[in-house]
Amino acid sequence: MRWLARIFGKRGAGAENRPPQVFFTNTLSGHRELFVSRKPGIVLMYSCGPTVYDRAHIGNLRAFVFSDTVARVLIAAGYRVRRVINITDVGHMVGDREHGEDKMAVGAAREKATPEAIAARYAKLFIEDIGELNIPTGDILFPRATEYLKEQIALAKTLEEKGFAYRLPDGLYFDTEKFPGYGKLGGLSHAKLEAGARVEVVKGKRHPADFVLWRTAKPNDLQQWDSPWGRGNPGWHIECSAMIRSLLGQEIDIHTGGEDLAHIHHNNEIAQSEAANGRTFVQYWMHSAFLTMQGEKASKSLGNVVYLSDVVAKGIHPLALRYFFLQAHYRTPLSFSWDALAGAASALDRLWKLTHEIGEVSKRVKSHSEASDRFLAAVRDDLATPQALSILWDSLRSEDYTPEEKWGLIKEADAHFGLSLLQPNAPSGTLLEKDVPEDVRQLLAKRREARAHNDFKEADHLRDEIGRRGYRVDDGPDGPVLTRSTL
Ligand code: AMP
Ligand code: ZN
Repeated sequence: MRWLARIFGKRGAGAENRPPQVFFTNTLSGHRELFVSRKPGIVLMYSCGPTVYDRAHIGNLRAFVFSDTVARVLIAAGYRVRRVINITDVGHMVGDREHGEDKMAVGAAREKATPEAIAARYAKLFIEDIGELNIPTGDILFPRATEYLKEQIALAKTLEEKGFAYRLPDGLYFDTEKFPGYGKLGGLSHAKLEAGARVEVVKGKRHPADFVLWRTAKPNDLQQWDSPWGRGNPGWHIECSAMIRSLLGQEIDIHTGGEDLAHIHHNNEIAQSEAANGRTFVQYWMHSAFLTMQGEKASKSLGNVVYLSDVVAKGIHPLALRYFFLQAHYRTPLSFSWDALAGAASALDRLWKLTHEIGEVSKRVKSHSEASDRFLAAVRDDLATPQALSILWDSLRSEDYTPEEKWGLIKEADAHFGLSLLQPNAPSGTLLEKDVPEDVRQLLAKRREARAHNDFKEADHLRDEIGRRGYRVDDGPDGPVLTRSTL
C-alpha cells in the first residue's frame, strides 16, 4: 500500500494572518531573499533523499536535519508545509555517472539479495534514523522511484515530443542545447560545462552536459521495465522531476539538497521540469554544506563514514548529533570528530537539565520576552542556528528573565530545534507506517474499497471508525491522507 501521511503543520496562516518575515539564501540568485510562498500560508517543499543501497551516514543525515529545520522555521512562522523526501531505489549510478553500475546492483551483489529487498531494508533504516533525530516522519511523504515509473516515462515522453530529447542506442538523452539557460543554478554556463572534464564516453552524445532520461537495459540489469524506447531503466534525475510533478505539482516553493547536488542533479531537474511544464519549477533552492572528516567530505566511497548506530553504540543520544549540526550554520562545512560530538552531547545534557528545572519553576507557564524575539529573528535570518543557540543559552542563564519568559523561549527553541527540550530525553512522537495499528490499516483498506464502489455512506462510516481510534483520514488529490487526530 502506498502510504500517504498528512503533511500539514499545526497552524495555518491565511492572507489576513500574514506570517512573519523569513529570509533564506537562494542558490538560484546566490543571495539572501525574503521568503514569499506561492500560495498564502502554504509551502510545498521537496528534498532529494537517500539512495537506499546502503545505510545513510551522518553526512547524509546533516542534509535532512537541515531541511527539517527549514520546515520547522516555516511551520513555527505559521505556514503549513507539505513535505516530500524521495527514496532513490533505481537509476543512481556509482559516482553519479551516466552509465556504469547502478548503486542498487552494487548493494544487491554485496548482500546477495534483490534490489527490492535492499531498498526495503535501507529505506526502513533511513526513516528510523531520521525519526531518532526528531524529524517528524509521519508528516513527510517518502515516495520510491520505482513506484513512479509510469510518471517518469510520461515525463520523458513529453520531453521527446517537445523536441528536448534525442535517441541513442544507449537510451534517450536530454538535449541541453535546446534548453536556454541550462546550468542557471550556481551560475554554471553551458560553455563552461563543455570545457569541463565531465565528459562521458557515450557515442553520439551531442553535448557533454546532455544527460540520460531513459537508459537502455544491459542484459544483466536486475531492474528493467518496458518503455517506448525499449526495455530499460530511468536516469537518476528524472525521478525527482516526475515525483515532484505528481505529488506537489508543476511549481514548488522550496527544493533542498546537499551542495554536491546543485550543479548537475538540480540543473538537470530544472531543465527537465521547466522544458516539460513550460513554467518556473522551484522558487527557492537551498543547499547544505558537507559534513567533513579530517578535511574530506564524508562519503561511502572514501570509506570515512560514521553511522547513527555508531553514535548510539557509544552511548551518545541521537539528538546530540542534531545539536552538533545546529552548532554550525548550514552553509558552512562542519568537521566531525568524536570529541566534538561528545562536547555537543554534554551541552545538550546540561540544556536538558536546565530546561527541566525551568519547567518545574515556571510550572510550564510561558510568557513572551524580547529574548524570544531575538531568537526568532536569528532562526528566521537564513537559519542562523549558532546565534540562536547562544541566545538560548545566554537567556536561560540570565537573571534578567522570569521563569515564565524562559519557558516561553524554551518552547520556541524546541519548535525550531527539535531537541526534545520540553520532555528531555524523549524523542517526539513520529508516525511511521509500522506505528499505525493493524486495525486502522484494515479500516483504511475497507474504506478505499467502499469508495472504489462509490459507497460513500460506508466510506464515511469507516472514516468515523478510524476517527474513534485516534486517526484522521482525508482525501487528497493523490489518495487518502492519514494523520493522528491530535495534529
Ligand atoms: P545520497 O544518498 O548520496 O544520494 O545523498 C543523500 C543526501 O546526502 C544528498 O542531499 C547529499 O547531498 C547529502 N550528502 C552526501 N554526503 C554528504 C556529506 N558528507 N555531508 C553532507 N551532506 C551529504
Ligand atoms: Zn533530486
